[in-house]
This record gives sequence, structure tokens and C-alpha cells, in this order.
Amino acid sequence: MEQKQLLSLIIPVYYEEEVLEESYARMDAAMQSTGHPYEIIYVNDGSRDGTMKVLRKLAKEHEEVKVLSFSRNFGHQLAVTCGMDAAKGDALIIIDVDLQDPPEIIPQMVERWKAGAEIVYGKRAKREGETIFKKLTAAVYYRLLRSMSAYPIPLDTGDFRLLDRKVADVFLEMRENARFLRGMSAWMGFEAEPLEYVRQERAAGKTKYTLKKMLKLAMDGITGFSSKPLTLPLGWGVALSVLAVLALIFFAVMWIQLPNDKLIWIYSLGISGFVLLQGITFIFMAIQGMYLGRVYDEVKRRPLYIVAEKLNI
Ligand code: UDP
Ligand code: MG
Repeated sequence: MEQKQLLSLIIPVYYEEEVLEESYARMDAAMQSTGHPYEIIYVNDGSRDGTMKVLRKLAKEHEEVKVLSFSRNFGHQLAVTCGMDAAKGDALIIIDVDLQDPPEIIPQMVERWKAGAEIVYGKRAKREGETIFKKLTAAVYYRLLRSMSAYPIPLDTGDFRLLDRKVADVFLEMRENARFLRGMSAWMGFEAEPLEYVRQERAAGKTKYTLKKMLKLAMDGITGFSSKPLTLPLGWGVALSVLAVLALIFFAVMWIQLPNDKLIWIYSLGISGFVLLQGITFIFMAIQGMYLGRVYDEVKRRPLYIVAEKLNI
């Protein structure tokens, strides 16, 4: 009989002592019901509350629980990356500890994966128990990101997802510091399937994503996946320059044609000349931006290409 494939569940934790035990119970039950052998990897992202105490206890009682603890807070995205580095599974599942993403749909994710999906991502059909502010900013942000990004990042998805080992290995080749997992996942391509779910209220505790952390993540999402902001001045620069040249011609003609009121045309010429200079400055800013974008792409050292399948090779 074929041996069952190993699943790795990766859970970042930051000041979550209130929710950990309940969370473990539900995650463990969900993993058991997949019928596969599994490991549960907790990454403590520098919590100083009782989180480690609970994790030590869980690790002592259950050998499939693995724990990695950071020396300080490195952030959710790096905690997930660390867990993925340590994972041994044939499929990796990333989930938040707070039960907002229901672990009960993990078996469905695994079924989709066995049916051939290389990435199965949770798509939030509805969000429950989140503030209007969070829902609104999230909705606007995802759409802004999509309009800026060169690769379509699916709307309303978080980091709750299953990655096939092959996909995870490619992902882990990318060692950039500012990480935005869902963007990197979209960048890689592969067969990605959405699985709809209702985002629940946090089971206990408060959100650990402060406004500052959210803003940083939002900026990482945009700057990491789009060089559009760098070349934004190009359009303005061209428009301003064209306008200024037209104005220069117009005012010059007026200056020559009308014998009186010479002074006003000279002033107008001066202003148009200034606007033209500004337009040219914008164009050069955009040109610098293009080089900067290239340097940025190069230093990220992403894989040049990704082979999803090989035949007769
Ligand atoms: N988290 C983390 N490091 C941080 C912030 C959050 O590891 O600096 C973890 C947190 O414990 C949780 C997940 O990331 O498992 C998502 O955080 P949270 O639920 O607070 O974010 P929200 O769902 O409110 O966006
Ligand atoms: Mg949460």
C-alpha cells in the first residue's frame, strides 16, 4: 500500500495565550480527520506572555507538535516563513492561531490538493466580527493592490492556504526580507484553487495586527509587487511638457502678433517655460524610477523561471 503523505500545519503565534489551547484542540481534530500523518508547527514570534508555557506543554504532550520560538518579534510573515523552512510535509498548510480561519475546512483543502490543485487558498466569502473600518480598508486595499500589481493577486484572500511541497520549495527559494506571502504566491503561478469560507470572529484575545503593522504589510504588498509608483511621474511629466510646449507656442505667437501689452506675454512665456522644466523633471524622475525598479528586481534574486512539470527529462 502506498504510504500516506505527510501534512504540515504552520501556525504563527504572537501573544496568544488565551486562545492557544482551544485552537490546538480544533486544529488537531481537523488534522486527524484528514486521515494523513501530520505535524503542527508553532512559531512563537517573540511573545513574552504565557504563550511559550502553553507551547512547551503541548510539545511535551504531543510529539507531532513542533515549536520554534523567535528571540524577538519579527512579524507574522517571517514567522510563517520560518515554519515553512522547518516543515517536512508533502503539503504545507498555513493558518492563523486565532480560529478566524476555520480549521474544519482543512480536510476539504487536502481533498482539492489530492485532486491535483497545487495551491488551495481560502477565499473570504464573508467576514464576521470585524470592524467596519477593517472590512472597508481591506476591501479598498485589495482592489488598489490588484490595480497596481503586474500579477493578479486574488481578491479577499489572506495567508490561509495549502501549498504543495513543490510550490513551497519554490517559495522558499525567495529570500527577500520584505515578504508578502499572498503576493509571492500569486507571482509563482501554479494551479491555484479558491475555497470559499466565512471568516469568523477571533476566538479569544485581540488582533495582534496593529494599524502600524497593517500599514507596513500594505506597503510591502505594493512596493514588493509593483514598480508602478516609481514610474508614476512619467504620465504627469509628459502631459505637463506637452501642455507647456503648446502654451509656449501660443504665447510666442501672441507676443509677436500684438504690438501692445508685450509684458503680459513675456510673463506668460516665463511661466510656461517653468512648467516645461517641471514636466521634464518629472520625466527624468520616472526614468530614474525605471532603473531603481530594475535594481530592486535584481537584488530580490527571485528564480528566473519556474518549471511546473517535466516530461521525458
Ligand atoms: N502574528 C504574528 N506576529 C505578529 C502579529 C501577528 O505571528 O507580529 C500572528 C497572530 O498570532 C495570528 C496571525 O499572525 O496567528 C494573524 O494575526 P491577527 O489575528 O492578530 O491578525 P488579524 O486577523 O486581526 O488581521
Ligand atoms: Mg486574526
